[in-house]
Amino acid sequence: MENCLFCKIIAGEIPATKMYEDQNMLIFKDIDPKAKNHYLCVPKSHFKLLADMTEEQSEMLKACFKKIPELKKELGLENGYRLVINQGEDAGQTVFHLHIHILSGQKMGWTPA
Ligand code: AMP
Ligand code: ZN
Repeated sequence: MENCLFCKIIAGEIPATKMYEDQNMLIFKDIDPKAKNHYLCVPKSHFKLLADMTEEQSEMLKACFKKIPELKKELGLENGYRLVINQGEDAGQTVFHLHIHILSGQKMGWTPA
């Protein structure tokens, strides 16, 4: 997908601190961390919304959700973690390539703002 930041990171055209990669996903550090540990898990297929997802893309997302807990040591998830998927304007989605935020390393509050 042209002009998609995360497609460019997946293609290696923009640098990122990679934590894990396979045929389904890339996991890298968020450039502006909102918790002590903040990673992004990005499926290697461009779609914006869960509502747009094909069967194949849903298999990729399933692989993401299976892999994340397997990386608990590498990603510092031992004491718990939070997964966030921002969808659309009210959620503040800024990159329109679906991604899972992985937040950990500290106690987290619960606020929508
Ligand atoms: P969202 O607001 O859910 O679309 O999340 C987009 C995330 O991408 C934000 O947390 C940004 O800090 C992060 N981000 C933006 N540019 C980069 C980049 N070049 N490398 C890593 N993370 C980025
Ligand atoms: Zn993309």
